[in-house]
Amino acid sequence: MDMIAKIKKVGTDSSKVMDIAHHLTDVSGPRLTNSPGFMRAANWAKEELTSWGLVNAQLEPWGEFGKGWQQEKCYVAMVSPYYQPLIAIPRAWTNGTGKKIIRDEVVLVKAEDTIALAKYMGRLKDKIVMTWSAAQMKPSFEPDGNRFADTTLDKMAVAEMHPGGPNQQQNPQRQNQFSRFQMQRRMNEMINKEKPALVLTMNQNGNDGTVFVASGGQYAKDAPEAPASVALSSDDYLRLQRLIEDGIKVEIEADIKTKFFDDDLKGYNVVAEIPGTDPTLKDELVMLGGHLDSWHGATGATDNAAGCSVMMEAVRILKALNVQPRRTIRIVLWSGEEEGLLGSRAYAKNHFADTANGQWVLKPEQSKVSAYYNVDNGTGKIRGVYLQGNEAERAIFSKWLEPFNDMGAKTVTINNTGGTDHLSFDRVGIPGFQFIQDEIEYDTRTHHSNMDDYDHLVPEDLKQAAIIVATFVYNTAQRDEKMPRKELLPPAKNQRAF
Ligand SMILES: [Zn+2]
Repeated sequence: MDMIAKIKKVGTDSSKVMDIAHHLTDVSGPRLTNSPGFMRAANWAKEELTSWGLVNAQLEPWGEFGKGWQQEKCYVAMVSPYYQPLIAIPRAWTNGTGKKIIRDEVVLVKAEDTIALAKYMGRLKDKIVMTWSAAQMKPSFEPDGNRFADTTLDKMAVAEMHPGGPNQQQNPQRQNQFSRFQMQRRMNEMINKEKPALVLTMNQNGNDGTVFVASGGQYAKDAPEAPASVALSSDDYLRLQRLIEDGIKVEIEADIKTKFFDDDLKGYNVVAEIPGTDPTLKDELVMLGGHLDSWHGATGATDNAAGCSVMMEAVRILKALNVQPRRTIRIVLWSGEEEGLLGSRAYAKNHFADTANGQWVLKPEQSKVSAYYNVDNGTGKIRGVYLQGNEAERAIFSKWLEPFNDMGAKTVTINNTGGTDHLSFDRVGIPGFQFIQDEIEYDTRTHHSNMDDYDHLVPEDLKQAAIIVATFVYNTAQRDEKMPRKELLPPAKNQRAF
């Protein structure tokens, strides 16, 4: 309890979490994997961790990722029937529009499936193309920002394990988005083959100038090039569509420059350690991390500079207190998460477990990691922790959360949460956990959008999260035993990637 009081004091009175976040967002810029912005942030983090006294700080290569990419210029405006600048963001790994400014009429492709699309074949080369959208904007009567209601947390706490496995938190809206995304991707592939000059897209979840933007091309070394493509704000996009459907000629002027980076195709995670001091336990590990890579529409503040800042601040607090942990504490900031947990999956393969003939081939380090803690659900404060189907941890975590009940963190749920890097540990039999975090504006406004910047971070929430993570990591490092493990399922049954 004495140590927890000290962690709370340092994490509250002399927090650096927002300073860290400022460097990872404002200063580094967007952190698409293997982009210059990612490398700026990774190198800064390595130096910063070293300056706090962590050791073995390095950018550890995990295998081949592919090309980096960044936008270098983006101008898109409607110039007929009248002039209007448009909110537009290039999609990752797409080409630019070439040397000169382009100006042309927009072709609206109205096809709800690939068969209907076939009649446009041969008519889209060098054109500015958009596909018809059924979206309609509505006023929003719901608040953008939300915190968990106590009643919701109470329900999560009493959730029981379903036969056949832990409860994956299912979001039907996400499922829908996924099938739409699949269809859209097939249409995009057909359109790309036509070699249009520019493809305009929209994401119908964006409103009020918020543009959700991810990839429009491929990063693999020899992947085919994708034509210039931008995501427009929904309001701009739908106006163009209405005008064209009304028979009015819409002309666009655009000048887009993007750049690919293929000097070094390897992906890197940032790693650093606080060495353990107990003669028998110092070879064991407690790990913590979050993904450093982001999308490029803004500076990836809530996804996931927030999580990286919390994790860095947690180890800074422990170093500031000159903690001599029994087990070694290792922080890892991942890359390639947004492309499918690539950095953490490869790390697990390199360090913990490979596969052969459908079975795991475990490496010695697999048995040495007590637990891995991950933060990647935005800027919201910690309300508790997901057990990831590991009931044996409930009593331990409930006890550890007691000193933070008055800071809003008390819920321990058997539920599983997906979508991020703790799964790479869970999959190879190492206890890997995500915390329950307040949503704030994650799904409504910031997650993968042009609004995911520093101003959407909540300082008090990040301070609280860093204090709790520091305590969990400390407790795990000092505990006599390693954290209890679940049964390790064979690789084929343990494929939850997203
Ligand atoms: Zn994320």
